Amino acid sequence: MRLFSMVGLGHIAFDGTKLKANASVRQTRDRDGLEKEIERIKEQMGEMIQTSAKIDELEDQIYPDGDDSEVVEELRKKEYRLKKLHEAIEVLEREKLEKVNVTDPESRLMKDSRKVIQPGYNGQIAVDDKEQVIVAADVSQNATDHAEFKPLVDQVERNLGALPKEGSADAGYSSYDNLGYSEVKGLDVYIPDNFLEVLDEKEEGEKRYHKSNFRYDEMRDTYICPEGEELKRWAERKREGKSPLILYRGESCGECAVRERCTTGEARTVSRDGREPLLEAMREKLRGEEGKRIYKKRGYTVEPIFGQIKWDRRKPSMDLRGSVKVRGEFSLMCLVHNVKKIVKKVLEGTVSLPGKYSKLIEEAIPRYRQEQLALVGAEM
Ligand code: SF4
Repeated sequence: MRLFSMVGLGHIAFDGTKLKANASVRQTRDRDGLEKEIERIKEQMGEMIQTSAKIDELEDQIYPDGDDSEVVEELRKKEYRLKKLHEAIEVLEREKLEKVNVTDPESRLMKDSRKVIQPGYNGQIAVDDKEQVIVAADVSQNATDHAEFKPLVDQVERNLGALPKEGSADAGYSSYDNLGYSEVKGLDVYIPDNFLEVLDEKEEGEKRYHKSNFRYDEMRDTYICPEGEELKRWAERKREGKSPLILYRGESCGECAVRERCTTGEARTVSRDGREPLLEAMREKLRGEEGKRIYKKRGYTVEPIFGQIKWDRRKPSMDLRGSVKVRGEFSLMCLVHNVKKIVKKVLEGTVSLPGKYSKLIEEAIPRYRQEQLALVGAEM
């Protein structure tokens, strides 16, 4: 899929957005809340059946052809609610969740860009910078983006048959795993981490003694603290399934005038992950002019897209429920975005479609031009 040469494979930007589920946050419950509601509904149903039986008796005497469909309908609604509550408990247990949404148990509580917590999904896209075509899309139940990078990179490769020269993503995607994976795939990525700014802050700032302001000296295998003192290799901490964490400890901290600002212990320690060189190389790259220039592409390549595809819908939440259906709906939103891009280019005459569509295009171009003129006229 190269979308009529609209994909350049030069730079691809990755990003995620929270998709509001078709479910109210008020329908989110913990186990206790679910069980209490189940009990309450069972009691209500028992009472309804008893009351209804008594009324039936009386009505049968007065109106032998009486209709009890309202009670039956109400009981059906309560039975349906009970079914949904039991399904929600199943999801809660299976996924080991604290809370679950009864309306859409597959949605997850997520904080959106306005910091509002609501049930939703995490929509992920990769966008080629040539014409802002979406080249990969997915939906996940993870509130954070770290774990979404690898699947998205793989999807780009599957969809396009190759990976781009370079890629970018925001700090939400920064992890040793993702940096290592990009290296393995030969993808030149630009992904800042949350401490990059801290590192760049003025020396006298509050974060002066943050670990990111300790410089690692590879030759001597030591850290140099912001006061210029050495922290020597001190211990190793073993970790399950990971390389050990190396600990470095200050030797002059006892005489240090600013020790209380730096550590609560007798001497400052800092830890080093075996993959830290990946992070350090990334910071170096992003501090350079070239790195800053390339990373800027992320903003104008991917950020406007979410605004556009959400605006196309004219409504804040998804229509469908459940992750499979939401994934389908999101794919459709992305497809509409791409089709609009193609149609615009074709009608402008800058992209050509295969010959069998030529008649269709010939008919559409004059109409498109008229509409464009009308739009310009309306804005004047
Ligand atoms: S406490 Fe130790 S590591 Fe921290 S600034 Fe002082 S000498 Fe450096």
